[in-house]
Amino acid sequence: MSESLFGDAPARLVSVAVPVPALALLTYRVPEAWPMPAVGARVRAPLGPRTVTGIVMALSPPAPEGVALRALTELLDPEPFLPASVVSLAQWVAEYYLSGPGEALQAAMPPRGLTSQPAVFRTVRVVALTAQGHDVADQSEAGPRCVSDEDKGGMKLGARQREALLILRGAPQGLPAPALADRGVSSSVVSRLAALGLVSVRQEAVDRDPFAGTGVVLGGVTHDPARALTGEQTDGLATLTAQADIGGFQVTLLHGVTGSGKTEIYLRLAAHVRAQGRGVLLLVPEIALTPAVAALFRSRFGASVAIQHSGLSDGERHDQWHRIRQGQVDIVVGTRSAVFTPIRNLGLLIVDEEHDTSYKQEESPRYHGRDVAVMRGKIEGALVVLGSATPSMESYQNAKAGRYARVTLERRVLDRPLARVSVVDMKTEYAERGPDVVISRALAEALEARMARQEQALVLLNRRGYAAAVFCRQCGGSMDCPNCSVSLTVHTARQDWRARCHYCNYTRLVPKTCPTCAAPYMEHIGFGTERVEAELRQLLPEARLARIDRDSIRKKGSLTDLLGRFARRELDVLVGTQMIAKGHDFPEVTLVGVISADVGLGLADFRAAERTFQLLTQVAGRAGRGTQQGEAIIQTIYPDHYSIRLACVQEYAGFFDREIEFRTAMRYPPLVAMVNVLTRGPSLESALEAAGELARRVRAGAREGFVVLGPAVAPMTRLRGEYRVQFFLKGRHRGQMREALAAALATLPELARRVTVDVDPLSVL
Ligand code: ADP
Ligand code: ZN
Repeated sequence: MSESLFGDAPARLVSVAVPVPALALLTYRVPEAWPMPAVGARVRAPLGPRTVTGIVMALSPPAPEGVALRALTELLDPEPFLPASVVSLAQWVAEYYLSGPGEALQAAMPPRGLTSQPAVFRTVRVVALTAQGHDVADQSEAGPRCVSDEDKGGMKLGARQREALLILRGAPQGLPAPALADRGVSSSVVSRLAALGLVSVRQEAVDRDPFAGTGVVLGGVTHDPARALTGEQTDGLATLTAQADIGGFQVTLLHGVTGSGKTEIYLRLAAHVRAQGRGVLLLVPEIALTPAVAALFRSRFGASVAIQHSGLSDGERHDQWHRIRQGQVDIVVGTRSAVFTPIRNLGLLIVDEEHDTSYKQEESPRYHGRDVAVMRGKIEGALVVLGSATPSMESYQNAKAGRYARVTLERRVLDRPLARVSVVDMKTEYAERGPDVVISRALAEALEARMARQEQALVLLNRRGYAAAVFCRQCGGSMDCPNCSVSLTVHTARQDWRARCHYCNYTRLVPKTCPTCAAPYMEHIGFGTERVEAELRQLLPEARLARIDRDSIRKKGSLTDLLGRFARRELDVLVGTQMIAKGHDFPEVTLVGVISADVGLGLADFRAAERTFQLLTQVAGRAGRGTQQGEAIIQTIYPDHYSIRLACVQEYAGFFDREIEFRTAMRYPPLVAMVNVLTRGPSLESALEAAGELARRVRAGAREGFVVLGPAVAPMTRLRGEYRVQFFLKGRHRGQMREALAAALATLPELARRVTVDVDPLSVL
């Protein structure tokens, strides 16, 4: 660094997050000729031999000692690209979940935000800023100084740039980017002119259909603002409205049984907050699975709502992001990543079905959308509403402890009764009819009755495929995945029997004879949705039937198509995995059947009972939402397990009390915080060694706030060819756990790629 003529003038430094996994914030020098960049602005910075685009996270950090600092090479945004609140949120995510700041930032960026120059998309309008009659070449000399010394030569306008300016001057209202492209002006020319401040690039308010191109059709879902609310809805809305009016950060759990009309409350609360000039964010688990909520918002708020879903192209998402950033959109409906959306003056965040596991991102940064939403509410001073019929243990515990307020809806709208639930003990059924029974007599009769009355039914089995495994009756060998510690699942397609791994997709034909001992006695064990579908086709030959699971909806649009046909009553029965249990509102469904309610209970996961209770309560909640009474029939071999018994009587509070006892006794969340640290390696020894060394260093730095358990071989010992070993941190002091772990990781940088840190893990398999 060169000596300053004026002695000890403070160095002009910034911290920058760059999109490289697990890399800490980097410090750069700001060239003398530049203004100081804003926090949230994008900059180009040298990194090794490359130049990368990063985000300014903080100004004037202390200069690291003994390092020659490099200078930024370009300032892409004179104004913050990301608002300060989103920068803080990303920073919190990086710290809380122990991811690199670059990964957290990337989660908060629009598509291509860190890979491109200020991008120009189809809906962009470009307007010349030069005063009439000024000479183009003169203007270029007077451009702003967002260019480093090295770049100064580049400020002279090239022929292309001059020509573009002349074209734009001839159109005082500006020109849309495609019209410019037609006249030979490329987007890089426009970007350059924009960077020099000679043109402004504005987003055109184009009202795209958010469902365009995805096949998401929402036949006839419209909102009726004149509908009278029920008493409970009125009271609940009044409480929430008052909370919104007080202003400031507040979290409220909206605990309403299935069919109690939570969506109506969301709509009215959103309208209220918006009328006060504040923005609204609604998070939903998966838009394609329950498009009706998004459609209702669309029908109520029209073009002022943006709907973010995975079917949008990068370009569409980019457009949408910029419209939101500029304040043209004040309501956003989206999945977990929408929690970073740059809505202005956010006043309300709603997390619908807050217990849903799809809010958790299972790749770095491993954040939980609900928890990030709560943090965002805190940063923005906004009301956060968490809605569910089956709240997560965490949220209910927070409500009980008084950290969250609570609004409860105990009854369905119009006093419709909850479904009557009965249990079939499959042990009795097997004893009487043999071990191959899939559909009990009670369920078969109930299905036949529904078909006779032309009502609809859902049949749930939360396991895909035809059979769970194949084994040889002679040698006892089963067909296992060569890469993962699981047996292969049998699938059937046309005449083929194929065995497939659900983790790595390894697939092979099921042989007629045993690959080990050549005996011709290959047998299926267990069954999945494909088998249920086959059984139902036999049982109900006349029924119009379809299956929904990850295998049946591979083709784009097929999920929407199936849900749409079921909603229009072109189908009588839907068979499927938990996908059919989500928040659907199909008024003509009067029967829900659950095959093997205990599928999830066999897993060595401390949340197994909670998941089972939620799934059963939610799926039973799909029955009887119209004028007819609903019924649910649950088949299980554990009719006395508390998660099943209490789901049958739909008693959330009873379940919570029972489950919290178990969590307390075993010291599991939400009583303590937990971090799962998993190491991977080409051999079990290498994974064990890495975990052992890391755990030893964490223990060495541990204080009293937590304990380290393990390492031990993970239940899923091999996955995609790698061996896995894990250890846990458990305790009441998240901060101490994070610090000790971060410090230990910093001493073993060579392990970075082989370690996965999961803070507040949802699954520990
Ligand atoms: P939840 O999300 O609580 O399960 P929904 O919001 O889907 O419930 O509402 C269940 C059904 O009740 C929907 O069909 C909805 O249109 C209807 N509904 C909601 N509020 C009212 C009301 N005040 N009067 C009549 N029907 C209502
Ligand atoms: Zn596999």
